[in-house]
Amino acid sequence: MNMSIQGVGMTSQRTRGRMIKRLSDQGIKNQKVLEVMNDTPRHIFMDEALSSRAYEDTALPIGYNQTISQPYIVARMTELLLESNAHLEKVLEIGTGCGYQTAILSPFADRVYSVERILPLQRKARSHLVELKIKNISYLYNDGNEGWPEYAPYNGIIASAAPTEIPFQLIQQLALGGVMVIPVGHNGQQVLQRVTRKTSGYEVEEIEPVTFVPFLAGKE
Ligand code: SAH
Repeated sequence: MNMSIQGVGMTSQRTRGRMIKRLSDQGIKNQKVLEVMNDTPRHIFMDEALSSRAYEDTALPIGYNQTISQPYIVARMTELLLESNAHLEKVLEIGTGCGYQTAILSPFADRVYSVERILPLQRKARSHLVELKIKNISYLYNDGNEGWPEYAPYNGIIASAAPTEIPFQLIQQLALGGVMVIPVGHNGQQVLQRVTRKTSGYEVEEIEPVTFVPFLAGKE
């Protein structure tokens, strides 16, 4: 493993271990999620100037007015996605951003289909994931409002930007028994929701208040 992946000081395995301890204190229970986050260097996903802050429990800028989600949210959303199915065949991710959530999802899915509307972010994410030798990801540069119909239906869908209402096409691309974890609402009053597709329709659970960047339309 090269030094940049391994990290030193504030980017070391020890610092990451403290983040895992904190996540578990905050109520994250899925041990496999904690393990994967313990094994995944978060600092390589951000600019060098911010890498010493990578393991703080906070969202940090990744450029283009976007942020990497805070570790607690990444852990919580992954845990919610996996609660009834420990392994998913196909996962659709909207908002690749820097690729960190993608990396955490990767061992839990046969394949992750990740959509991003800002091309340079997608390119960077891809290079980080290649550096970590993560190979089961397909990338699409597009407006996530459309989902990714070609590979639908998905057993899991996760969005890391908040629409005011869940895009209809995303709901349509959820498999029977599939689960979507998505923040919904206007700036300042978003709620994390889990939508489960049942034979008779959809079950919606409101999980907790959250703060996400907005889910935008079109490509940049
Ligand atoms: N999980 C990412 C979160 C990045 S922030 C990370 O930890 O880095 C949210 C991301 O969603 C941004 O990259 C933003 O460009 C993207 N996004 C917002 N609206 C989108 C849309 N309609 N389609 C695709 N991506 C979108």
